Amino acid sequence: MGLDRGPVIQSSGNRKRIARFCLAGAVILGSFLVAAPVRADTIGLQWPQPQGKATSISITYSYANLLDGTFLVITPAELRAATEEALGVWASYAPLHFIERPDSGPDVSDQPYAADGHPQIRFGHHVLAEVAHGFYPGAEGLAGDVHFASGIPWTVGDGHWNYLEAVTHELGHALGLTHELDEIAVMNPSYPSHRFDGLGSAHLYSADIRQLQGIYGRGVGSVQPLNPAPEPGTSLLVVTGIVALAHYRRRRCQISARNTGAIDPLCCRSEDRK
Ligand SMILES: [Zn+2]
Ligand SMILES: [Zn+2]
Repeated sequence: MGLDRGPVIQSSGNRKRIARFCLAGAVILGSFLVAAPVRADTIGLQWPQPQGKATSISITYSYANLLDGTFLVITPAELRAATEEALGVWASYAPLHFIERPDSGPDVSDQPYAADGHPQIRFGHHVLAEVAHGFYPGAEGLAGDVHFASGIPWTVGDGHWNYLEAVTHELGHALGLTHELDEIAVMNPSYPSHRFDGLGSAHLYSADIRQLQGIYGRGVGSVQPLNPAPEPGTSLLVVTGIVALAHYRRRRCQISARNTGAIDPLCCRSEDRK
């Protein structure tokens, strides 16, 4: 189903938020960084897939400074859960195996650096003019890195700054996807925020899947965090997501209860009234 972008933006009542959530991709050409909010299929950058489309490839990732406690609203556990969930939705439609590695490389910034064996996708934050950005795949170190603005009260749920939506969108750029301008999509820069409602709600749209599979082919990948005890793979992610979701909902109830004196019996415990 097509999306008439104009009326959606005009009628949403969230025009400012949508505009600010219009996350810019960037591409490294030589040593130059080029903002690249361009149409699909015009970049042609991807992570190497030497055996051809629809064959499995591994993509390493790491948490640079993302979990250093700077994001005050989201806990490191929620950040990790949301990031793994976002990786997982992309891995659900293409044979991409995301493997966490210990972080290495320079401090997070937009200064180019040599790849030199560092993880391909490094998640970090620094002072940004925009909300977040992701770098397209390439041979340089900065390629694939995903950065979020420091000092923004990111949430994973219904807050103004939805990390889950942002990381899913930026990961699309980190995989080589460009902006979808005609259809509703995670990769549509006018994509209204708040379509995801907390951990466990991330998803792609058909336009996202079409573009992803146009690059890498069809298949199913995986997300392999470090120290995935006791069970590796998807089952762990499900458990992690459920645990994080329960934690998040309860925390939200506690905040709500404190602010309003009200309590939601569906998700709050009695001690949350305090
Ligand atoms: Zn973007
Ligand atoms: Zn950056």
